[in-house]
Amino acid sequence: MKCSMCENNKTLKKSTITYKYKDCGLDNVILIGVTSYRCDKCGEEYISFGNLENLHNTIAVLLLKKRDLLTGKEIRFLRKHLGYSGAMFSRLIGYGHEAISRIETGANPVTESFDRLVRFTVATKLPDREYDLHDQILNNSGTKMNRIELTSIGHGNWKLKKAA
Ligand SMILES: [Zn+2]
Repeated sequence: MKCSMCENNKTLKKSTITYKYKDCGLDNVILIGVTSYRCDKCGEEYISFGNLENLHNTIAVLLLKKRDLLTGKEIRFLRKHLGYSGAMFSRLIGYGHEAISRIETGANPVTESFDRLVRFTVATKLPDREYDLHDQILNNSGTKMNRIELTSIGHGNWKLKKAA
């Protein structure tokens, strides 16, 4: 792999790093064992996430298992993961586009009923079902998830290291 930002012709320096994955729109996702390629000349860093769909699916499932209410940012992440625009999501869940936007940006609080609506809407679209959302909510058995640490286990797969 060569740098596309400068004239450096040397192969980039490869290393394994821990990366705060803010690119996904969440502030609390830490990726452990990510491959980084750094250019010695200009300092540009290229991160290899492997299969992005897979990674985002892992995060989405974890968010559904979160014990506390989802945050606006998490709701936005889930909506985008399903590939919906604000307008499409508005039609889907029967909420005003503006109202959804205010919740996502944090201007309006996330209510319990809105949290549930989003979770069930997302859950019907995610293939991976080794959890039961009804049991989890009724038994309050979700996971504390203020911080999501994922460890790369190869082949583009991730597993939860720690949720605190
Ligand atoms: Zn460079």
